Amino acid sequence: MGYKVTLIPGDGIGPEISQATKMVLEATGVSFEWETALAGAEVMDRYGTPLPDAVLESIRKNRVALKGPITTPVGSGFRSVNVALRKELNLYACVRPCKTYPGVRSRYQDIDLVIIRENTEDLYAGVEFEQGQEDTLKLIQFIGQTKGVKIGEDSGISIKNISIKATERIVHYAFRYAREHNRRKVTIIHKANILKYSDGLFLKVGRQVAEQYPDIEVEDRIVDNICMQLVQKPHLYDVLVLPNLYGDIISDLGAGLVGGLGVAPGANIGDGVAVFEPTHGSAPKYKGMNKVNPMAMMLSGVMMLRYLKEQEVADRLEKAIAAVIREGKRVTYDLLPDLDMNKAASTIEVAEAVIEAMSSTG
Ligand code: NAD
Repeated sequence: MGYKVTLIPGDGIGPEISQATKMVLEATGVSFEWETALAGAEVMDRYGTPLPDAVLESIRKNRVALKGPITTPVGSGFRSVNVALRKELNLYACVRPCKTYPGVRSRYQDIDLVIIRENTEDLYAGVEFEQGQEDTLKLIQFIGQTKGVKIGEDSGISIKNISIKATERIVHYAFRYAREHNRRKVTIIHKANILKYSDGLFLKVGRQVAEQYPDIEVEDRIVDNICMQLVQKPHLYDVLVLPNLYGDIISDLGAGLVGGLGVAPGANIGDGVAVFEPTHGSAPKYKGMNKVNPMAMMLSGVMMLRYLKEQEVADRLEKAIAAVIREGKRVTYDLLPDLDMNKAASTIEVAEAVIEAMSSTG
């Protein structure tokens, strides 16, 4: 009997990279029983919702899922399936390792950072007041009366909420992660100088939690400053812990540091449940072309193997992916040094190259 894993292929490029990832995971020799669960724009017509209950039931049962990206149409009133999944399953920690592999096209070498993003609150909690609505006007009046601040009646408002409980949970997670992965330092990211009651609380609680981990160094940085620092001196940083929105933005910055979204994996973790997925989205313009890089999802598979305590197999798969990148001959367009499309491998050819590298290294 293998590991029971929910496989959500997603939409856009999701099904192609999921197929490639499934191929390499099966070639590791670890046995999986995949339970495929469909979600996203393409199942709307059939189920009337982009997130059918069966998807959540499957993850709740199996406790582990591997997920392709899912499109969130802009301004359609269609809530993000990705955000809904994180909320429904209380996947409060988003973990995004940013590591350079030799051979990747990047301005930097030897980067090894981990970004830990709070996933449940902040401006992502979905507490929004639409411009012109009655409730919005009431809120604007209330703010005027209680704070003496005049907000234009033609404004839309999004609420930024940060709680002690969610901050404690994510900062504990970051420090435990640091300990378990032999990391030396955690940097708390905030904008507490301006947002005193939300980010100020994140920083205060974060510092209190840090006292319980005297073996791990702690420091804090203002979010705008860390953007510059990461570009100028990324090697100074190790584990970063951030509120939701900054975590979203800095994750893409991190992906840029290590060679792009094609090699940036991720995981969303709750208590006893985890969903592994690449940082990138569904890149709809490349859908069905068999040309995008499956490595971010494969590396998310490596994270899943580690979560399942299959350390040795995870190391072997990661080494094989690294070998294919280093060799640079059978990689997708985004990893080519000269962007010569004629030399690009397809999504499935990358999977085949990784499988070959695994058998020759292992
Ligand atoms: P995106 O990450 O899908 O694509 C941006 C660009 O990055 C692409 O055009 C492509 O050039 C490049 N890219 C992305 N993945 C790649 C890969 N595997 N290989 C090679 N190049 C790759 O971002 P977007 O265009 O802003 O978003 C498209 C959709 O995806 C949106 O609907 C968005 O909401 C959704 N999205 C979903 C998730 C998720 O499922 N977790 C995450 C982010 C975005």
